[in-house]
Amino acid sequence: MPVGFFFFQKAVIIFDFCCYIIQSMKQLLILLLYCVPVSLAAQDSSFIVQTAGRLPFLEYGPGNDRLGGAKMTYLDSGIVLKVVDSLDGDYIVRLSKQHQAFIAKEHVKPAPEKFSRPYYLTNNWRVYGDDTFDYVTINLDERLPYRSIQQINPSRIVVDIFGATSNSNWITHLKSAKEVKSAWYEQTEDDVMRVFIELKNKQHWGHYIRYDSIGQRLTIRVKRQPPLDIQKMTIAIDAGHGGANTGAAGVSSGILEKDYTLRIAKELNTLLKQRQVKTLMTRDRDTTLEMADRVEILRAASPDVLISIHLNSSGNMLIQGTSTYYRYIGYKELSQSILNRMLELKLLEIGAVGGFNFALNGPTEYPNCLVEVAFLSNLQDEKRILDPKFHKAVAQKIYAGINDWIKKIK
Ligand SMILES: [Zn+2]
Repeated sequence: MPVGFFFFQKAVIIFDFCCYIIQSMKQLLILLLYCVPVSLAAQDSSFIVQTAGRLPFLEYGPGNDRLGGAKMTYLDSGIVLKVVDSLDGDYIVRLSKQHQAFIAKEHVKPAPEKFSRPYYLTNNWRVYGDDTFDYVTINLDERLPYRSIQQINPSRIVVDIFGATSNSNWITHLKSAKEVKSAWYEQTEDDVMRVFIELKNKQHWGHYIRYDSIGQRLTIRVKRQPPLDIQKMTIAIDAGHGGANTGAAGVSSGILEKDYTLRIAKELNTLLKQRQVKTLMTRDRDTTLEMADRVEILRAASPDVLISIHLNSSGNMLIQGTSTYYRYIGYKELSQSILNRMLELKLLEIGAVGGFNFALNGPTEYPNCLVEVAFLSNLQDEKRILDPKFHKAVAQKIYAGINDWIKKIK
């Protein structure tokens, strides 16, 4: 064998080997390109759930304080949510491309995969009224999540429907609607439809969002302005705590908050009844009531106003004073009016506190105000709380505050 031929053969073998390596690398690359998306897809562990149980609600984030995190909205049951992650006791759910929320795991149940669709379209709207309420109904493909806020000047209810892409070409507004001035929408994001409901009156009297018991029609029920006369209204009174839930205790006397909230609530109830005002008490004796029980009682009764009565407490014994609380801007004036009257009792001012996350400030259905009368943890305030004359005086001030508020609305 000539030496030259031997080298030629070696070169061919090396060339073949190189080709083989390149070919193999190409195949490996193709395999990688194919596998990476597959493995990424395999990592997508999202799944669909539905809201369930009593009073499910969304939170903005994992924040927590003694009242729980900041609530975004209470939700109806059977609402479809996409879980993308979890953190402690919460699921993180994707509401739309840009929005997520937190929901307690106990507030959802598994849902069939059929709920997962690329688009959820909206359909026709109807604005109308019956004897008591106005309604804005929107036909949807699915029970999608929503949230709402109140706006003032002008008074509007703004509802975001997440995951919804507009296919609505028809908004019927009937004469029977008495409170809704107009209703329209903007597709603010690809998959978020924002509903605007402008009200005729400047005061918000409440709205309630739910789906039809069967089906996917979203209904925003709008409460009309009642006659602006307290005698023609129903005032709900909630005495904080009760039964096994004793609340705070007096710093020197050891008296229980649950007993004194009830005493003040009863004084208010008596005073209102003497003035021929219709009232409703969530409890009139020492009984245990969950927050959900209270919300359900109130929701069924649909009062015009809710006053919730508590006594405050702090680790700092020096803190004293009175405060009122609201969650929604449309209910601020009620809290401010009651606080102004409470300050006439020579209590120090803690303030009219907004954005508050108390469970009974959360429902949007009626104007509500939490009154933290004074501090059980402060000696001076406690002395007042022990005096039955003070209970009567607090009742009078709350009554006067509601009347002041009504006058302002007129
Ligand atoms: Zn309390």
